[in-house]
Amino acid sequence: MPLVNAKEMMRKAREGHYAVGAFNINNLEWTKAILATAQELNAPVILGVSEGANKYMTGYEVVASMVKAMIKSMNITVPVALHLDHGSYEGAKKALEAGYSSVMFDGSHYSIEENIEKTKEIVEIAHSLGATVEAEVGSIGGEEDGVIGRGEVADPTQCKMISDLGIDMLAAGIGNIHGQYPANWQGLDFEALDAIKAACGDMPLVLHGGTGIPEDMIKKAISLGVCKINVNTECQLYFAEATRKYIEAGKDLEKKGFDPRKLLAPGVEGIKEIVKIKMEMFGCIGKAGE
Ligand SMILES: [Zn+2]
Repeated sequence: MPLVNAKEMMRKAREGHYAVGAFNINNLEWTKAILATAQELNAPVILGVSEGANKYMTGYEVVASMVKAMIKSMNITVPVALHLDHGSYEGAKKALEAGYSSVMFDGSHYSIEENIEKTKEIVEIAHSLGATVEAEVGSIGGEEDGVIGRGEVADPTQCKMISDLGIDMLAAGIGNIHGQYPANWQGLDFEALDAIKAACGDMPLVLHGGTGIPEDMIKKAISLGVCKINVNTECQLYFAEATRKYIEAGKDLEKKGFDPRKLLAPGVEGIKEIVKIKMEMFGCIGKAGE
């Protein structure tokens, strides 16, 4: 199946009361691991790519070409969306030109007026190309590619203003943060989520910073309208842990254990493991065809 946008995935997730996992990719190994797991579990999947990861992989066109070719060569039949994560205004346009099927335009650091104006433009361009748009209100805490958010709780009135621009998904800060959660974290603000849901109706909501949010909170968030959950840090931690164990066991020094295909294999298995755990938690396993 060629790349799809996130519209149908979101509609089905909302109606079926589950969430689709959006997993960030960094390279070929990451992409292969996530696609293989989604196919094995018959789950729809969103591949998230930050602007930093795009730069790391040398450009939007490289990423789009790799993902499209990999879907073909691996015979992937589950729906896959290629999504720019936390895109800037310019980045979102470049990703759309390169063939991304979905973009997040993160205008949360602009004034609400400017966020509205720019989101509107991106929606127009994206929809003319058949791509979907995620917008953000109220910045998400923690650090993402050097941008430090304070973890604001989004204002429901502003959420409604952005929702009305024809966007397809809305990321609203509800006390969630990127990276690992500190010991004194207050948890998700469900009152805020409830108020956002009441203001925005059927708009699929997106939960960023999915790493380390306890399962009961994830399930409650899904019941309150969250249809897409972003996972990034946890894949990195599983990859690093598996790679470290391999090297600490001295396996890179045995025979041809230094071959990158051997050296990176445990990390790939680590990513597969955490993607499966997350998909189980999000309830999206077996939902590819429904
Ligand atoms: Zn995020």
